[in-house]
Amino acid sequence: MTPASSATVGSAVYGDKRALSWYYVRKGRGLAPAFPADTKQFGPDRKAIWIGKGKTVYLTIDNGGDMNDPDRWLDVLRENGVKASFFIAGYNLKKHPDFVRRLVAEGHLVANHSMTHRDFTAMTDAQAIAEIEEYARLYRDITGRAIEPYFRFPYGKYSLHLLDVVSGLGYTSVFWSLAMRDWEPRAGGWKDAYNDIMSQLHDGCVILMHQGSKDNLEALDRVLKDVRAAGYTFGLVSDIGAP
Ligand SMILES: [Zn+2]
Repeated sequence: MTPASSATVGSAVYGDKRALSWYYVRKGRGLAPAFPADTKQFGPDRKAIWIGKGKTVYLTIDNGGDMNDPDRWLDVLRENGVKASFFIAGYNLKKHPDFVRRLVAEGHLVANHSMTHRDFTAMTDAQAIAEIEEYARLYRDITGRAIEPYFRFPYGKYSLHLLDVVSGLGYTSVFWSLAMRDWEPRAGGWKDAYNDIMSQLHDGCVILMHQGSKDNLEALDRVLKDVRAAGYTFGLVSDIGAP
């Protein structure tokens, strides 16, 4: 645990419980964005990642809602030979075990996104831990494997304290360096999704896409091809080293 700006609770040292919301500030085409000042307090023990390095892009697909057309998502990824990291809410994991097994069979990474996809900053520690541990059990029941130790806070709502709780369970918390207003239909359809991604692309980019967006799915093939054409390869979040 990181002792700086932490309070002692019982015998363990835990960080500040102040609720935080992940964000980044765009710096311009090709440039990495700026990140919250709170990241200076993350330190290696809090095991959080939000950007990688070099000519690699990390596609993370968030599914806390509509499954959209899951097989089409996977077909487009497979046609392009791209592996992605999926953050699926537990209730979708439970409802769509065949999709989860296909993800694993095709080499994608499935990460823990909590059972109920609620705001963790409004939970007790015991609730937060149960959300994550129950997910890991469910994943093992469905796939016969241990979950990859990567976690994403629903809505990017977290605290330094919660980073300690999550890393205490052995997980790395995954944020992002590129996101879009893609939880609702886009005025310009797929072109908005495409342009948002291509105009913000930067080295080590961690892209957050919502699976439920039809515009995202329609843009996906072009995005994958043009990210490659821009000189990038695709990696999984497990390829990002410690910050
Ligand atoms: Zn989510």
